[in-house]
Amino acid sequence: MTGSPQAPRCVVFDLDGTLTDSKQPLAPRMAAGLRDLLELRPVAITTGGTWELMDAQVLRHLDAPEPLLGRLYLLPASGTCAYHRVDGGWLRQYSRDLSAEQKVRIVDTLLSVAAELEILVADPWGELIEDRGGQVTYSVLGQRAPLAVKEAWDPDGSSKEALRQLVQERLPDMAVRSGRSTSVDVTRPGVDKAYGVRELARSLELPLSTVTYVGDRLGTGGNDEPVRSLQEVICIEVSGWQQTAAWVEALVARARHDGPERDREPLADSPTAATGSHR
Ligand SMILES: [Mg+2]
Repeated sequence: MTGSPQAPRCVVFDLDGTLTDSKQPLAPRMAAGLRDLLELRPVAITTGGTWELMDAQVLRHLDAPEPLLGRLYLLPASGTCAYHRVDGGWLRQYSRDLSAEQKVRIVDTLLSVAAELEILVADPWGELIEDRGGQVTYSVLGQRAPLAVKEAWDPDGSSKEALRQLVQERLPDMAVRSGRSTSVDVTRPGVDKAYGVRELARSLELPLSTVTYVGDRLGTGGNDEPVRSLQEVICIEVSGWQQTAAWVEALVARARHDGPERDREPLADSPTAATGSHR
């Protein structure tokens, strides 16, 4: 991890590898840290995964009261869509979906490149490909592969990087990124986690320089890398949720020490555009 606790007015966290292990639930210590932080300022969580995964990994384990949920923003599918809590339900603020033609082309390319690299699994754990609206995700071992199996596959990341690079070459009009584990995400360029962070800052009327982003894959080709293009956003790289929990605890302790008046944010306004919801 680089950087000491800053005094951001809003913190955006990646999910897998940052707040949780891959596709695993939020640990009690991390949940407590997020609740403490939500007392002080808006928090957003972004992931390559779906809203349903965020629900299973985060919301069912966060145990936050309604006023705190009103400060939480969810940016699934790599920020290609966004949700905010309104009147006890999750309201979709936007969704920047790929076209049907783009999705077909992406799926065909992912499968043909995987076959070419001889990493196409004949009997995967669940679906290999998931349509996430604004993003198509390819999970090399299948969507439901056990964590231990995923960690044992391609430990140096070379096979996944070969897949990512070749798919990127074949889809020059798309952005191809990889997560920590075994998945590769394809979105339109410019509609990614950076887009999600920028839209969030705009909706909260916060300068980007007051936003801090915490992620585990900020390096080249990583799925947090786009956020680095927002040069004003302070980016913190972590290597697991325990490190994130320690960072959050230090930030909360410092904010409390500095005094609630200086750090506390008013509850954010309701979103202006509503196109769907989850309850
Ligand atoms: Mg991650």
